[in-house]
Parts: sequence; structure tokens; C-alpha cells
Amino acid sequence: MPKTRNATTGLIHDERYYWIELGGYMALGEFTQPFPAMDSPEGKRRILNLVRVSGLMKHLTEFEPRMATEDELALFHARDYIAKVKELSDTTGGSVGDFTAICAGGYDIAKLAVGGCIVAIDAVLDKKVNNAFAMVRPCGHHAEADRGRGFAIFSNVAVAVMAARAQRGLGRVAVLDWDVHHGNGTQWAFYDDPNVLTISIHQDKLYPVESGALEERGKGKGEGYNLNVPLPPGSGHQAYVATIERVVVPAFKRFTPELIVIASGFDASVLDPLARMMCHSETYRTMTGLMMEAADELCDGRLVVCLEGGYSPVYIPYCGLPVIETLSGHRTSVVDPLAEWVAQIGGHDLQPHQDAAIERAATRVEDIR
Ligand SMILES: [Zn+2]
Repeated sequence: MPKTRNATTGLIHDERYYWIELGGYMALGEFTQPFPAMDSPEGKRRILNLVRVSGLMKHLTEFEPRMATEDELALFHARDYIAKVKELSDTTGGSVGDFTAICAGGYDIAKLAVGGCIVAIDAVLDKKVNNAFAMVRPCGHHAEADRGRGFAIFSNVAVAVMAARAQRGLGRVAVLDWDVHHGNGTQWAFYDDPNVLTISIHQDKLYPVESGALEERGKGKGEGYNLNVPLPPGSGHQAYVATIERVVVPAFKRFTPELIVIASGFDASVLDPLARMMCHSETYRTMTGLMMEAADELCDGRLVVCLEGGYSPVYIPYCGLPVIETLSGHRTSVVDPLAEWVAQIGGHDLQPHQDAAIERAATRVEDIR
């Protein structure tokens, strides 16, 4: 178990995170009956609701987010892209990239998502809390410098890490992205920067299909400081835990970060409609525990978890709660109601082709100097 068993844990949340629409439905053609957006506000709100109903909230320190400033956004994003988002938000809304629309009034909420991650990092750096969970929406890790992608308007984690380095004089930061999709925006933000180690564990060639390969290792001085672990579809608990133990923790130990940030989607879950992985509530509990142990050993426990994707409204609360329970060292009486059913499904064990993919990534750890 992590040393910080009774850690003080910050929770950053705001009702406005659920007031942004990211596209009513995907327009697939004239014979497509409209359906609700995959990224449903109600789905994400259910995580917060379970935190409240479980009684965990009284063990957490609540923080209000603030909006990121335009200058903070511009640490990564192009000024004309920021202006375009603002202009569309001020009028009727519209597309800002593939699978990504900004709704009327959405600009402020997108800035609030970035600012929520900044507040979380500041709270940890200022020792107000030992670790923190930023329950932000919309997600951020697909947004690139000049365009939104995959329901992401601004790159929440990338901008927050850049702000922490620029404003707080932070040195080395390690970012682990365990959202089931590739953390392309975060990767490109730090691709030539040896001060930020970016690791993404994702389903191979899922989204974006053109990025996320093992061969993308960073460039220039940043070569070796981007590590992708593309896992085969069907990977589950043992594959994910093995990836943390055999790739992520050894990489972090070589890198010696001063802060660890996790881009935490819950769409690698066995019930997610946008991916084909098999993680469950105990996978997220175990991975969080391992990251806390690494943070305790390497950076005085400084760990910030930022919410990314997750599209099973039924199941994501049971994946999110164990992360926050583990961060805070308080186990509630909530039992994953689907755990027994999930356990009966075959395929949780590490399969040889998954083991081979993890081993290929593990050989790249020595590129980190
Ligand atoms: Zn995702």
C-alpha cells in the first residue's frame, strides 16, 4: 500500500462542466436517426454523484476551478485557434475539429476545464493537499495546437503542465495517459521537450488511428521522452497492471519526475462503447495505488489525476470512485455491482500477444536518460 494512506486529497469540480454540449450526435448520413452525444454530461456527472452518495466527499478537500487565461491557453494553442473557438462560442457554435464542436457559450467552460487542472496542480505544489483529482469536462488530451479533436477543445493536461513549468518553476513532469485512446495532443505538446516525459497506454490504432505507435519516441532533445504502449484490443486487468509495473514505473524511476500527472479516461473499461478493452474497477484501483507508490518514492507523493474520456454512463462511476478512494486512503462501502459478472468473462489474464506488446515497449525505457 502507498505510504500516504491518509493522504489529503483535493477534488476539483463544478456544475458548469456538465453544461457544455460537444455535438448533439454524429451526423452519419440521411438514414441515421439522431442520437445523444457519446460524451454525455450526465455520464460524467454520475461519477461526482457517486462520490457524494458514497460519503467519500467528507474525506476530500473541495476546490473550485478557475478559467485558464488566454495567455495560459497560448502556451500550447495557436492564438488564431483560440480566437476561432471564442468567436464560434460567442455566436451560434460550430465545428472546431473532427468529432468536436463548440456550443454557444462553451468557450468559458472549456477554459474552466483547463483551469481546473491548473488549480489541481497548484493545490498539490502548494501542499494544500497531497494529491488531487480534477473532475473536469470536456476532456483535453486529443486537442492539438491548432484544432480540437475527439470531443477535446483545449489540451487540459498539456496546458496545465506548461503553466506549472512556466509559472511555478517546476522542472521535470511525468504524464501518464491511461485513457483508451492515444494522448496525441499531450504527445505533440512535449514531443521535443526532455523535461516532460509523456507515456500513453492505449488500444492500438483506435483513435487517432494515425498516431500512437511505439516508434513515436520524441524528437531532438526530446527523443526518448515520449513512450507509447499500444495494446491489442481485448487487453484487460493483467495487461494494464503489467504495463504499469514493467514500463511505466521503470520509466518514471529513470526520469525522476518532480510531479506525476495522470490523464485518466475510464474508456478502457469492459463496458465502454468506444473501445474494446476489458479493464474494471479493480484495475483502476490497482493502477492508482501503483502510481501513488511511485509518487511517494520519487516526488514526495505529488500526484494529480485529471479526468479524460469514458462513455459508459452505467460503469464509469465504479471506475472513478476507486481512483479517488485510493488517492484519499478511504475505502467506502460501495461495491462494484458488476464485479461478479465481469469476473466471469474470460480474457482477463495476460495473453501472449499482449505480453509481447508490453515487452516491446519495455525495451524503450532505457532511451530515458
Ligand atoms: Zn478516450
